[in-house]
Order: sequence, then C-alpha cells, then structure tokens
Amino acid sequence: MKRLSDIGTIKDILSRHGFTFSKALGQNFLINPSVCPRMASCSGAGKGVGVIEVGPGIGVLTNELCQLADKVVAVELDKRLLPVLDETLAEYDNVKVVNADVLELDLNQLIKDEFDGLEVVVCANLPYYITSPVIMKLLEDRLPISAVTVMVQKEAAQRICAEVGSRMSGAVTVSVNYYAKPQMLFGVSAGSFMPAPKVDSAVIRLDILKEPPVQADEGLFFAVVRAAFSQRRKVISNSLSAGLGKSKEEILAVLEAANVPPTARAEKLSLENFAAIANAIGE
Ligand code: SAM
Repeated sequence: MKRLSDIGTIKDILSRHGFTFSKALGQNFLINPSVCPRMASCSGAGKGVGVIEVGPGIGVLTNELCQLADKVVAVELDKRLLPVLDETLAEYDNVKVVNADVLELDLNQLIKDEFDGLEVVVCANLPYYITSPVIMKLLEDRLPISAVTVMVQKEAAQRICAEVGSRMSGAVTVSVNYYAKPQMLFGVSAGSFMPAPKVDSAVIRLDILKEPPVQADEGLFFAVVRAAFSQRRKVISNSLSAGLGKSKEEILAVLEAANVPPTARAEKLSLENFAAIANAIGE
C-alpha cells in the first residue's frame, strides 16, 4: 500500500469515498509524514501493549500504532469514515474500529473486553472541540492505563503542562496534575493538517500516577479548584466565597486553618495549598 501520510494518497482516498470534512467534528487530518511515527513511538505502544485511539480519521496514526502495538482499538464517531478505515487498515489483523462517541463510551468495560493482560495506553490527535472533556474523562474514569499521548492546540498544551503555581497555570493544570505527570513533547505547525487550522498544535504526554500527590476529599478538592479559578484575577478569599457560596468570614477562617494568605491568587497556589483548603472546609 502507498504511504498513507502522502498527501496525494490521502486526497485520492477521500475523493474516491466522496468524503467532505466536518468542521463540527474537529476534522483536521494530519498530512505531515513525520508526525505520526514520532507520536506513536512516544506513546509507549509496543510489544505487550494495547492502544486506545480517539478519532482515527482516515487511519494515518492508527497505521503507525498497529505496527508497534499488540492491539489497537480506534473509536471514531463519524460513520462516513468506517468504509475508509476498512480500506486503509485492511492489512492489519490487530485493529478494531468502534463507531461511538468517546464521551459516551464505557472505557473501563472496553479495556476489560479488548485488552486482557495488556498494558494499555491512549494515543490520539484529539478533536479540538472536546479536548478538555476527553482528557478529563480519561483521567477521572480511573482507567487502568499507564499513559495518554495526545495532540492538542498549542495553547491548551502550554496550559496543561504549565507548573502548578505559575502564571500560566489554570484549573486544568491543577486537575491534570492531580492524576498525572504532564510533559510537553513537541510542537506541530498548522500546515501539518488538512484543512489547516488557524492555530499551531503540540503533542503532550500524561504519565498516570498510581496515587494522587495530595490527600483530600476529591469532591471538595475539585470544587475548590473550580471556584478558585472561576475568577482568577480576584484574590482567593473573594473567589472562594463567591464560587463556594460561603460567607467571607467562613472562608477567612478556612484559609487561616489551611495556612494560605487570603490575598493570594489561584494561579500562585500549589496542589498542597488546594488540598489544605479542601481539608479545612471538610473539618
Ligand atoms: N487521527 C486523524 C489524524 O490525525 O489525521 C484524525 C484526527 S481529527 C483532529 C479528529 C477525529 O476525531 C476525526 O476523525 C473526528 O471524526 C473524530 N471525532 C470527533 N468527535 C469525536 C467523538 N466525540 N468521539 C470519537 N471520535 C470523534
């Protein structure tokens, strides 16, 4: 078969199947031949490993993953791509395409059914309209996976991989760091896609932690993080009071017990600070 990352091959396949891109489904397909092999090799795909891919498109990354991993399950929402994937993945017997919305899928069950005895990783060029919900689902569902390697918009990658407590950090930085150790791998220019999006992208890898780095009631911890960043320019006493619906006096007492200055801003706080606030509220 001709190389799938070759632009001529891609155009030929798409035109033979009468395929037109859906903006609503975030369809920007990779046409830069160097990106997929690099992503696949960084993802941990290999012998004894099963891979979940989200949104295979025409299968350009799937092809690379199939060559490395024992098994690949690719979850694609767009039915129109199923006959395309039948053609582009025909040479592999270690791949299964599941036609579903990844946000609706029971991934714990899928892993039990499809990857018995294998280490499991996720590798995907994510549809950008659901980047955060997909990443948070992969983390919050407590899947038995070891790593998530995904392409996201560059700005989202910078936010996720920022140091907790630095100017670039946000609710997503703190939330991701509760479950995983994020790492920026490499940038990908907008011209690497068809059609080209307006912004550049980056590939990040999240190594899943066995235990959260701090101890706190999880519901309270995430409620505090959301409230703290809901008005990130405000001082923490005001944003927590507004976001948690508690009086200023109550919040000042909580912050004192947690040893956090009431004039601090959310972006300056550490994971330990957020956990201490959640624990003080819980007491
Ligand atoms: N992996 C391909 C590539 O790199 O060229 C395509 C990536 S494209 C950015 C995103 C893919 O996700 C598209 O194929 C799109 O149809 C699919 N998709 C969009 N929403 C989805 C959802 N909720 N569940 C599963 N797949 C989805």
